[in-house]
Amino acid sequence: MVNVSENITRVLERIAAAARRSGRRPEDITLVAVTKTVPVERIREAVACGLKDLGENRVQELLSKQPHIEGVNWHLIGHLQRNKVRQVWDRVCLIHSVDSLELAREINKRATAAGRRVDILLEVNIAGEESKFGLVPDAVIPLVREIAGWPGLHICGLMTVAPLVADPEEVRPVFLRLAALRREVEALRLPGVDMAYLSMGMTNDFEVAIEAGANMVRIGSAIFGSRDYQTKVEVH
Ligand SMILES: *Cc1c(COP(=O)(O)O)cnc(C)c1O
Repeated sequence: MVNVSENITRVLERIAAAARRSGRRPEDITLVAVTKTVPVERIREAVACGLKDLGENRVQELLSKQPHIEGVNWHLIGHLQRNKVRQVWDRVCLIHSVDSLELAREINKRATAAGRRVDILLEVNIAGEESKFGLVPDAVIPLVREIAGWPGLHICGLMTVAPLVADPEEVRPVFLRLAALRREVEALRLPGVDMAYLSMGMTNDFEVAIEAGANMVRIGSAIFGSRDYQTKVEVH
């Protein structure tokens, strides 16, 4: 049996220790609990333990769970197709996965029409893995320059998914590179851009990510158990 409450306690301790090692306070790090494939009852256990930020990587799954869990902030962390923007843009507190001009344009269009502004992160594929989404690092600054100041967008930082490796030390350079890119963007001082968040670090590598500067980590299996053993959530 997975003990969600114990898992959360342990994860929070590890986050706090990594924060201190990097000269920050535990409360400077936002934990986004990744709830993909996790049934609603188990998510409620985590919310009862005080978790306030939940992340889903599929639009349909997010929308199907949302009505059943109250008082939390939903993060969209997975790839977003342009034709799904309409369904989700105003249902989440932060979209972590903006990876093209076309997607940014669609979000901006929807938000502007409603007189709103959407908080977004730009997803960067630092390691250049073919299987992953995200901008190539060299495309980040040109894209930021292009979309900065668009009235429907608030660019709040950068996100990456590091390659899955046995020893998380191997991906420290990936995290350091994203942290450096964040500073480069910050130095441009563009309107509508504030690099508040660095969303990086998952179950296998979150401590290294925090040491490298992450202030938002997305953690699923360390909280809810391995997804291999979970029943697939049916979405309609
Ligand atoms: C699934 C997922 C996570 C969490 O993965 P764990 O290894 O279970 O912590 C984080 N970020 C993204 C984008 C994901 O899809």
